[in-house]
Amino acid sequence: MRAGDAFVGDAFVTDRLAQPRGAQWVVSWRVDAGAMADAHRDVDVALRAGDAVIVNDCNLLLRPAEVPPDTRITVRVAGEVLLSAPWLPGGAPRTYTLSAAALEGGSYLVFGPQRALDVKVPGAPVSAVAVGRPGRAGDAALTTWVSRSAGMSARFGGGSLPVARTLVVVVPWAEQSDPGVFGSTLRWGLGSAVLFYGAEAPAESFAADWVAPHELFHLHNPDVVHRVPWFTEGFTTYYQDVLRARGGVRPPPVAWKGLLDGFRHGCATDQRTPLRAASADMRRNHDYRRVYWGGACTAFILDVALREHTDNRESLDTVYRALAAESRGPGGALDEAGVVERLRNALPADHWGRAWLHASLDGRAALPVGELASRLGVSVSGEQARFDDGAPWSHVRRAILEEPVPSPAPARRPATPPPPPR
Ligand SMILES: [Zn+2]
Repeated sequence: MRAGDAFVGDAFVTDRLAQPRGAQWVVSWRVDAGAMADAHRDVDVALRAGDAVIVNDCNLLLRPAEVPPDTRITVRVAGEVLLSAPWLPGGAPRTYTLSAAALEGGSYLVFGPQRALDVKVPGAPVSAVAVGRPGRAGDAALTTWVSRSAGMSARFGGGSLPVARTLVVVVPWAEQSDPGVFGSTLRWGLGSAVLFYGAEAPAESFAADWVAPHELFHLHNPDVVHRVPWFTEGFTTYYQDVLRARGGVRPPPVAWKGLLDGFRHGCATDQRTPLRAASADMRRNHDYRRVYWGGACTAFILDVALREHTDNRESLDTVYRALAAESRGPGGALDEAGVVERLRNALPADHWGRAWLHASLDGRAALPVGELASRLGVSVSGEQARFDDGAPWSHVRRAILEEPVPSPAPARRPATPPPPPR
């Protein structure tokens, strides 16, 4: 749908209002969200969940063809049907204010019967609602699940999330026994996520879930133009595992086993297609594991290189947050080349990490991740990883799963000789 189009029932309405700058328009309209859900059955348009309807507000709000970035939009929702939105309260009942960025990026809304979950994330305004029939685990388990996952994500941001408010909607998936089944996150100015969980999943299984930590980490993603899945999905895949270990839900031996297994598919075996090409073509080749774990491996290489080079004073945490902040600044979203340039430039010209970054993105040969792992003092043995604290970079290995690195550090020391990529 183009900006400026409004979706009403089954018809796209594209008539535009001529709008001189500075003028104030009040536009009222009705939308049949239920009919939209019946026609599309897609969470990114509208979807029924029990007696509620989840709607992406991009398909609900009229959008002028051009919205100057400093525009404040006031939305008043008529009627009495129950509504949850991450929109900011506008001072009157059912009245909200929206920034231009939030209007552009969209948010998930929930209309109709829903149960508020008492989610608490210190330092971050996060609310959550459950729709549909309660699953086997019960709402208390869902509340813990969302609180814990959002808390892990906030911890990466130094105790907060980079959005003004976040709404999480949890939806049962019939006959599924995995705790997290699928999710989708919107994150421009306001955060909203829809998490589908297995209706048959037992309460105790939610602690091991990766879907919610993955989706809620997406709130930290730098803004990129076009899709760059190796970066957006790959780095999120790396952090979904790192954050769970930092959050204490995955002990380091299990976390490292998971990471090294993932890298085996992503970058530690020869590949038919270089990562960047596989990523650009992912919608056609559906090679998600390669792209997600190839990107996760790229993130891992950079994290190790940055930490090794600065004795843990810098890490991917700091570089990633700086990239995200830059992408939300006046220069706007970065393209793929801009992302690669900034990642590369985070390391000195002669650092081994640069050669590895290049080999990871554009090479076909397996990367010697095993060599890197032995420098870190980690190897897989059965269902767990084993550690060797005598390894030269064991301080790097330990720090990766500890607290996020808070701030950039000044001094760099010379690069240690590189383990060369093949
Ligand atoms: Zn994702």
